[in-house]
Amino acid sequence: MSIEMKSIWLDGKLIPWNEANTHILNTTLHYGYGAFEGIRCYKCEDGRSAIFRLEEHIRRMFDSCKILMIEIPFTQEEVCKGVVETLKDNDLEECYIRPFVYEGSGSMGLVAYNPVHVAIAAWPWSSYLADGLSDKGAKVKVSSFSRHHPNVGMVRGKINGQYVNSTLAKRDAQKDGFDEAIMLDTSGYVSEATAENIFAVRDGIIYTPPLSSSILAGLTRDTVIHVARGLGYEVREESFQRDFMYICDEIFFCGTAVEIMPVREIDFRSIGEGKPGPITNAVKEQYFKLIRGSWTEKQEWLTYL
Ligand code: PMP
Repeated sequence: MSIEMKSIWLDGKLIPWNEANTHILNTTLHYGYGAFEGIRCYKCEDGRSAIFRLEEHIRRMFDSCKILMIEIPFTQEEVCKGVVETLKDNDLEECYIRPFVYEGSGSMGLVAYNPVHVAIAAWPWSSYLADGLSDKGAKVKVSSFSRHHPNVGMVRGKINGQYVNSTLAKRDAQKDGFDEAIMLDTSGYVSEATAENIFAVRDGIIYTPPLSSSILAGLTRDTVIHVARGLGYEVREESFQRDFMYICDEIFFCGTAVEIMPVREIDFRSIGEGKPGPITNAVKEQYFKLIRGSWTEKQEWLTYL
């Protein structure tokens, strides 16, 4: 998919899309030392557009940079404002938003301390995995690539270089004919998919790996826990192994890009009846009501344009 929009917010100013370029000796390009976010904006039932959990996404980007000891030359409020300006300038009512922080060029080496830049791009992006998959469910495999050991990757951060691990797992899975890969942590417990958190359902109880399982603390994961508990389900943040997934009634992924994605098969074993299950469907339905503003309980999660 080739994308081109009108403008990109770069260091406080909206500039033409095609002029948002960087030097080839950019530090983040060479060493992956930078951070980014993925956010969605939805057209609500009442016709307005709302960005979902904007402040928390931007806070996570600042947390990622704190972990990296990168000082962002803007405040969180300024970056949030920049996101709104970008969407308005590009006439976007419903879109995916990519804010990112990178170190530019000047010196070379691992500790070059080049100038820090902030950019915000946004474009329409409907389905992240293949079209139609959310109705039938994804076919996935457990990857031979492990998720980061806590002393190797700082998974609390959404850090550019860490996505080499995700990309290796995803490319490998797709070459083998699967839609997505699930990664285990270095102790063999289920961690997460390449850009999604995992939920599993057995006997009506919903399980998800705890934050200590080398997962990104997903905002959709947090939203799903809230939605599921609101629907009356018990949700346990508990470690489990791959064989538990094989005997679950339902499995689903969640993340900003993928939203709620049912899983129909893992390692050639069908999950439950091999199609989206009732709890997955109930959570998904309520999640969409929440992000589209018709479930009014969490209005503070919506930033209206
Ligand atoms: N895990 C990883 C590795 C991710 O990249 C993402 C996407 N940001 C997620 C989980 C889901 O996080 P969120 O719900 O905040 O998008």
